[in-house]
Amino acid sequence: MAFAQRKIIDGHIHYAHYSYEEPLMSILADAGIEKLAVVCTPDEERLSLVPDAMLLKAQHPEKVYVFGGLDISPLFITPDIAGEAFAHYVDVLSQMGADGVKMVEGKAEMRKRLPLPDFDSEIYGPYWEKMAETQTPLIFHVNDPEEFWDAEKVPDWAREMGWFYGDGTYIDNEEQYQQVLNVLDRHPDLNVTFAHFFFLSGQLGRLGGYLERYPNMHIDLTPGIEMYFNFAKDPDKARDFFIQYQDRIIYGTDIGARALLRDREAGIEEEESLARIEVVRGFLENEGSFKLTHEGFLFGGSEAVFQGIGLPDEVLDKIYYQNFEAFASHSPKPVNKEAVIEECQRLEMMINAMAQMQPGSGGDTSSVTKVKEFFTKSSA
Ligand SMILES: [Zn+2]
Repeated sequence: MAFAQRKIIDGHIHYAHYSYEEPLMSILADAGIEKLAVVCTPDEERLSLVPDAMLLKAQHPEKVYVFGGLDISPLFITPDIAGEAFAHYVDVLSQMGADGVKMVEGKAEMRKRLPLPDFDSEIYGPYWEKMAETQTPLIFHVNDPEEFWDAEKVPDWAREMGWFYGDGTYIDNEEQYQQVLNVLDRHPDLNVTFAHFFFLSGQLGRLGGYLERYPNMHIDLTPGIEMYFNFAKDPDKARDFFIQYQDRIIYGTDIGARALLRDREAGIEEEESLARIEVVRGFLENEGSFKLTHEGFLFGGSEAVFQGIGLPDEVLDKIYYQNFEAFASHSPKPVNKEAVIEECQRLEMMINAMAQMQPGSGGDTSSVTKVKEFFTKSSA
């Protein structure tokens, strides 16, 4: 379907490799998306995807916000004081020119894979204090759709991805919500956006309660396709929620997630990206039911029926860019080349050290080396 031209910032895009620049930027340009926020996740072999994202920011300084992932190596090296290392890393990211922090550490599969402390534990204390004090924007992935904990309801595709969490070896989603809410009770002004509607699209009353309680909390619209099926069950109720919390909801699509999670060879695909845009914009802008005209990864195929809530223009403008600008800033911060070069050098060392210490991790310095060369040349 065709959408009207509007000013849009996509607040949640993944960029797994520097070679994706051309496809990503041309897909977004064709779709009329003006700016984007790249959210960085930890990487087993390369440790960090921040260098790739900083390179994209340098190539498109007016357009690209970067939310840097935390350096997780302290969890292995100095686990007792990891929180202090994370707090320090907030400064490192900021000095490089990152616009905020992304945490995917609340995904249950991550919690299991990495030796992560409980979010409300003392270890994290210095980090949360730093985040609250500096008002650094945080995009935080906590939990996953609740059906992933339910053997009866978990979708087959989620099982295939290794996202069935009901066998007792993963963190319980309610326990994890409680940990995060404890953090917010200590720091009610934390400048946080919970990705994927905090996975509470099926419990709007509860979610509204949190938005009332924590004035700086936002949520993003990034699928989780279950979100749009939940909204479709009662579009009037969904619409009321969007009107009531119109200042707290941020547009995002997860473009690039497939390339990150499933198929790095395929890169960022146009068709899949357009389906993501179509799900979210169709829901916000259409009146009544609609089907997708693009083919998306995990989106239920061409037969799935969605319901639009036809929001008014001024609410759309808030969700499409004003709320993101209020959460982050009106324009992306400039890249500090020297700081990026320095961080690339440190990462190179860490990647090699991790390969020695922690078999299966580290070892791939191809991205940091490339990015370091780019910035070294461009500052010469
Ligand atoms: Zn994502």
